[in-house]
Formats: sequence, structure tokens, C-alpha cells
Amino acid sequence: MCGIFGVFSFSEENISKKIYYGLYALQHRGQEGAGIVVSNGKELFSHKGLGLVPEVFNEGNIQSLVGHVGIGHVRYSTTGSSVIENCQPFIVSSSLGNLAIAHNGDILNSHILRESLEKQGHIFTSSTDSEVIAHLLVKELLKTEDIVQSIINVSKNIIGAYSLIILYNNTLIGVRDPNGFKPLCIGRDENDNYYISSETCGIDVVNGELIRDVHPGEMILINKDGFNSYKFSDSLKTSSPISSTTCMFEYVYFARPDSLIDGISVYNVRRNIGKILAKEEPCDAHIVSPVPDSGVTSAIGYSEELNIPYYEALIKNRYVGRTFILPSQEERDLAVRLKLNPVKSIIKDKKVVLIDDSIVRGTTSRRIVDMIKRAGAKEVHLRIGSPKIISPCYYGIDMPTKEELIANSKSVDEIKDYIHADSLGYLSIEGLLKGIGRKSLCLACVSGNYPTDILCKFKNTDKYPNCNCGRL
Ligand code: SF4
Repeated sequence: MCGIFGVFSFSEENISKKIYYGLYALQHRGQEGAGIVVSNGKELFSHKGLGLVPEVFNEGNIQSLVGHVGIGHVRYSTTGSSVIENCQPFIVSSSLGNLAIAHNGDILNSHILRESLEKQGHIFTSSTDSEVIAHLLVKELLKTEDIVQSIINVSKNIIGAYSLIILYNNTLIGVRDPNGFKPLCIGRDENDNYYISSETCGIDVVNGELIRDVHPGEMILINKDGFNSYKFSDSLKTSSPISSTTCMFEYVYFARPDSLIDGISVYNVRRNIGKILAKEEPCDAHIVSPVPDSGVTSAIGYSEELNIPYYEALIKNRYVGRTFILPSQEERDLAVRLKLNPVKSIIKDKKVVLIDDSIVRGTTSRRIVDMIKRAGAKEVHLRIGSPKIISPCYYGIDMPTKEELIANSKSVDEIKDYIHADSLGYLSIEGLLKGIGRKSLCLACVSGNYPTDILCKFKNTDKYPNCNCGRL
């Protein structure tokens, strides 16, 4: 995950507040840290820290960031631990100027590239793959002295998922990898401010209008000379982002429902998914309820299709931050109760069909089913708005190893028993494609077919010391 946001203004001298609000709108994409870098044409100013956007920034530090062009990042860690050194944007200086980079995605061969850069004398300040991209770019810039050519050269050497926003000597640059795994879009407002954002909700919040999505394999440059687009991959032949392998989970779970991804409304997708799930896996229940928040829109679709009343049987506490690492079962149950609490008056003696977006390990689903049963439900049925997750993600979504994915080793019936549900049904892959309305998506975690080479960067590392995920 991670959220990235950039602004170039032709009319305003200070755009740092716009980046702040853009990051605020993208907060759901990462809550571990946030950062902003701006340029006034002569100097760079930056501030970053651990925590949520309003915890990292205040009136004082925002006012100290003065510039007409800048970029920002909200962090969710997949590579590198949760320490301030890993917060982005990263700044790398060279004789040709300053380069700042904000990255969403995961680079599969970053460990190999990093080793080689370190041997050449590059010094890293973080443990992230994003800094590897920054160093590669500076290395190429020193050779070519041309940012467009440097991005083209770097893209040939990196494998994986990368949506990037780069600030290079007063030019704002947006880059989307040839597969288009992560979303990236461009907008503009009536004051001639240009925006690049992970999602359209970031452009909405600053009162901008969506221009279009950045195409897979495309880079966008915005500077005093205007707006330019360059293709760096053949995937642009179709000139349509719909033909790329965008992460299907952006639609199912990650993105905000008020965003459009590659021109498709996330809200409409989730409602469609609910309707298709109702046709594929109907249930004779008294009430339909979502597991909040990502199950909400699909539960509405499911309820509409089967004419079963929609209720909120679980209430989410929106103010729960990070819980401690909980050693005992009792404490882990408490953490779930802290986040979700059942409405007993709605549930008592009812057959409840719960709609959730996915099952990963199965432990959270089991706690939720148990909670609804303890609240007096007669039966609890679970319907899932995505297919079974059977393989890990290597493209920037924090997932456990293959062995920890419950659907990798258990049948639907076995999972149903494990989570204590009265019945369980998943959306099919065909149903998912139909619900999203595109033929081409990344489906690797539900199909096992990866759209790129896989070089498992986690194998036998600190993060997954016993990784045995079955890939290389
Ligand atoms: S493997 Fe799954 S989670 Fe990862 S990018 Fe592909 S669809 Fe998304």
C-alpha cells in the first residue's frame, strides 16, 4: 500500500497545505508515517515523522515548508521496519541537483540491486526498496544528465510494482510501472495547480478535477514548460489502463469507495460484487450485515439482490489506534472487541449473513463469528467478496507466508468449520472480474499466476525467517 501525492502550481507560491490535505485523504493507504518535501525553486524543505498525518504535521511545521512544487507520502510498511528513517519522501542530492521520491509498491529484486549499489559506494539511510530506486535514478542521472532517459533506464532494471511521484529540480514527475499494479491519477484545479495522486479522492479534497489516470508504462512531467507525457514501456500500445494488471484488491478492499481506479468507481464495483456474490452464494437469512468498513458496500449489494434487510450488526470503534503485541488469546480477543462490538438487539435469535472482503489467516473471522454467536445469533453465515487467497503477494501488500494463508491448505468446508460459521461462500474469480468490469487484473494471490518474474525477497530474511512460500 502507501499513498503518494504531488502538486505543481503555476500560480501559487506555497502548496504545502494542499499536499497535507491530499495526504489526509489518502490516510487509509498508510498510517505508520508521513512526509512532505517541497521546493521553492532554490531550496528543498522537508518534514516527516511516524504516525498519522495530523500527528506528524502542525500549523508550524507546515508553514515552514514553502514552495510551489512538492510531494508527499503516507507509509504502510511492507519492506523495512516502522522507523523514521524509512519514512518517505527520500531525498538524494547530487552534483545535478536534488531528487526526492515517494513510492507505492514493492520491488522484487531490490535486495540484489542494493547489494550491487553498496559495492559501488552508495550509502543507504533506510532499509526500504524505495531508496534503492532513488539511488538508481541518481546514478543514471549522473550518466545521462537527462531525467526522462534515467527513468527509462532504471525501469529496465527493476521488477515489481511501482507508482512513483518524483520531485527533481522543480519538475514534478509521476511514473506508473508497466503492469500498472498501483493506481496513479492526474488532476488540475481552476487556479492552474496540477496534482498527481494515488487515488482520485486526493484530488477531490483539494477541489481539483480528474484529468485521467497515468497509464501503465507512462511517465508524466509537469514543470514551467507545461505538461508532458512519455511512454517507457510497450504496455502503452493499447493506451488504456484497463488492459493492465492492476491489483484487484484495490477495488475489493484498499481504495476508498469514493475513488475511481482506472476510471472505474470503487463503490460501484463493491456493490456489484455484493450482487454477484448473492447470485453465486445465496443465503436464507433474516439480516445481512457487513464486517465494517470494507464489507459495507458489498453487503448493500447482497441485501438488495436477495431482498434481505441490511443492518449494521457490528459497530466499529473508529478511534482505536495501534494495539500492543498481544501475547495471550484473551488479550487478542479483547483487541477485536475493542475494534468491533455487536448490536445484541439486532442479532438476537436471528440468522445473520455477514459480508467480509477476504479471509487471510482465518483467525479474525473466527473471533467475529464467535462474537456474533455469543451476542445471541441463531446462525452465522459468512460470505466473502473475493476468491480464496491461496498465494502471497509480492507487489506491496503485506500478507503472511503461503503456509499461513488458511485457503492454501484447507477446503471451503474445512475453513467453515475452523471459523465456526454455519456456512461459508466465496466469490468466484469470474464473478470478481465481472464485478470489476475488466478482463485484465492482477489476480496472483487468488490464482497463483504472477504477472512478473518472482524473486522472493523475503525468503530467509528477518521479516520471514522461516519463509517457505513455495516460490524461488
Ligand atoms: S498478488 Fe493479490 S494483493 Fe498482490 S497485487 Fe496481485 S492482486 Fe493485489
